[in-house]
Amino acid sequence: PDKLRQLIASYGPVAESQRARRAVFSEDEIRAALERREFLPYFQPKARLADGGIDSVEALARWRHPQAGVVAPGAFIDKLEGLGLIDELTWQMLEQSAAAWKAWAAQGMEFRISVNLSLSSLEQPGYADRIIFYLAEQGIGSRHFVFEITESTAMTDLPHCLENLTRLRMKGYGLSIDDFGTGYSSLQQLAQIPFSELKIDRSFVTGACASETTRTMLASSLDLAGRLGLSSVAEGVETRQDWALLKRMGCGYAQGYFMARPQSAADLPGAIARWTET
Ligand code: C2E
Ligand code: CA
Ligand code: CA
Ligand code: CA
Repeated sequence: PDKLRQLIASYGPVAESQRARRAVFSEDEIRAALERREFLPYFQPKARLADGGIDSVEALARWRHPQAGVVAPGAFIDKLEGLGLIDELTWQMLEQSAAAWKAWAAQGMEFRISVNLSLSSLEQPGYADRIIFYLAEQGIGSRHFVFEITESTAMTDLPHCLENLTRLRMKGYGLSIDDFGTGYSSLQQLAQIPFSELKIDRSFVTGACASETTRTMLASSLDLAGRLGLSSVAEGVETRQDWALLKRMGCGYAQGYFMARPQSAADLPGAIARWTET
């Protein structure tokens, strides 16, 4: 019950709202929200296991709903995908992430930002070039952005996806295989796409110390990442024990509630300072 309360609190008073939980948002409401730019990125740190330092964050979409409050993506991402509106969300996330990058840089902080891309976007010819052009125009070097490939279905148009992903990688952007070990985030994809980072799904991470089987899968994922020359990120690090285990196993980065929850751009520096002090 404590954990549940924490989880609800992390989404603000809003999550208490029935509507936010039941996710009954209409198409009109979602279209209007995109137009009014009610979606924004929250940022969650990825901490280096070696020394606890934080140089990277993941941008996670939130909907600042006028009545329901801050709504988590579980309640709208699939709907946006279904309506063919995910591109618009991705674009707004990219623009606001670039703005956050510049605001932090102006305060002397440099973070590498990971943005989640939808596979349906990557099927469009020229999609990578739009991103490359936009970030170059913003004066942000490619080493400061990583794209996480999240998917729930197999790639239907592999040649176009591959072309876009290869373009991004060749320009120097990072490419991350998200939720590794689940669904379609598989060995087959690893072999075809020029990834630079492997993100181990939290089902293999949270509480891993308690399960021999989970520890074995974790170890083999880390071994694979190492052999392929990919950096490794474990998601869902919730306790000091999870952290200690991953550190012992030689994982590169950890992301999870143990370090910090996703934060607004303005709150991120404070959250990082609190983590670094402990
Ligand atoms: P994801 O990319 O796997 O992101 C990690 C999710 O795990 C986030 O949920 C994050 O808040 C949550 N998380 C982080 N640390 C912990 C922890 O220690 N324990 C537990 N139990 N959970 C943790 P969130 O923000 O609700 O996002 C859910 C999913 O929505 C994301 O999963 C991603 O697939 C999708 N998503 C979020 N933002 C975007 C976006 O801008 N575009 C697209 N296409 N998908 C997005
Ligand atoms: Ca992700
Ligand atoms: Ca993930
Ligand atoms: Ca996921």
